[in-house]
Amino acid sequence: MQTNSQKTEKKQSEVSVIGSGIAGITTAFHLGKKGYKVNLIDPRVNSEINNLNPKNGTQASLGILMGNIYKRSKGRAFLLRNKSMKLWKEWLTEINYYESSFIFKKPLIKLTNSKKEYQSMVELIENKKEYGIELLDKKTLDFWNFIFETKLIGGLISHEDGRLNPIKLIKALMHSLDQLEINKIENNVIQISKNDKPHEKRWNILLEDNQSINQDYIVICSAINTQKILKSLGYKIFLEPILGQVIELELEDENKDWEKWPAILNYQSINFMHHSPNHVLMGATVESGNKPSLIKKQEMLKMNNTAPKWMKKAIISHEWNGVRARPINEPAPLLKELEVGLLINTGHYRNGFLLAPACAEWIGLKIENQ
Ligand SMILES: Cc1cc2nc3c(=O)[nH]c(=O)nc-3n(C[C@H](O)[C@H](O)[C@H](O)COP(=O)(O)OP(=O)(O)OC[C@H]3O[C@@H](n4cnc5c(N)ncnc54)[C@H](O)[C@@H]3O)c2cc1C
Repeated sequence: MQTNSQKTEKKQSEVSVIGSGIAGITTAFHLGKKGYKVNLIDPRVNSEINNLNPKNGTQASLGILMGNIYKRSKGRAFLLRNKSMKLWKEWLTEINYYESSFIFKKPLIKLTNSKKEYQSMVELIENKKEYGIELLDKKTLDFWNFIFETKLIGGLISHEDGRLNPIKLIKALMHSLDQLEINKIENNVIQISKNDKPHEKRWNILLEDNQSINQDYIVICSAINTQKILKSLGYKIFLEPILGQVIELELEDENKDWEKWPAILNYQSINFMHHSPNHVLMGATVESGNKPSLIKKQEMLKMNNTAPKWMKKAIISHEWNGVRARPINEPAPLLKELEVGLLINTGHYRNGFLLAPACAEWIGLKIENQ
């Protein structure tokens, strides 16, 4: 058990968070709120935030939170989701920025034309009564049958799931980091090593320009580069790149009753969002590697040969993709305390936005209890 003076001393400790994607930003935010002296290191930490030319997986993301429609009710993945859904509500009120009220849009609707999937929707609703999920009524299904020119078997609406606008959220969080006086270091970490000098901070970080800094704690949130940074310490962390793609469609001038569209519409494993007048975003996690393939894009557009006419006639007005780091032979995400003062919060191959607050909190607890 730590004494109060040990706790105060700990809060004066210096932590470096490596990587300023959503995992690193939220870890820095959480540790900053806890009173630690935090450095956030990334060559892109001051880069423009946009998804026209995404600088990392985070800027490419769609920011969808599918926390409540998760079918399990126990285990690590469920607990992380459950915790995060609660924390996001709190965090969004704390992010003191004029745009923060526009960041989270709800609800989420999922449609299906498979009997098996419909049955699991019915079971989900039965098992998770308190999560604000309902089956779609006939009138709503008729609307989506009309939109997708099909005969759906059913669907559900999850009132508390939805979408965090990633670009607005990152801007708001970055602004909060400034208010918390988090030190942003625009640099590339080349190597980390243990400090063997007594009375000095435990860890040394070597930056690209040969500067080096000593730290009490290091949290690595550097996605696909994690294995490289840890190699000299002998740790083997295996991650592979998995691409996510987004397509923005411009539709012919047709009224699709946009006010009836939810924040997120999920159908045929594709997420749809009404974006701006007559524009729809479509996103999916489709392929391994880090180069987009034309075939996968065409498959997404064909929607398993169920694409409605309005989609076939639409033009692609914009598209982007981003690399996600998937752990090999381990469940995502990788939350680990490798040794005293050295932690990782990475391998967010999907759901990086969804799980970010619970993962940041896990890191905070580990540091507090070390
Ligand atoms: C198209 C697409 C759609 C997605 N949609 C969703 C969604 O709807 N909902 C959801 O929850 N998730 C979604 N995801 C997944 C989500 O974006 C990722 O899980 C998340 O962004 C991963 O964040 P990260 O911080 O781990 O990694 P990244 O965002 O990749 O950030 C890693 C950072 O580390 C930095 N770095 C690397 N090496 C070093 C070094 N040596 N020194 C310093 N810094 C370094 C990089 O510059 C980078 O900025 C989507 C992803 C994509 C690509």
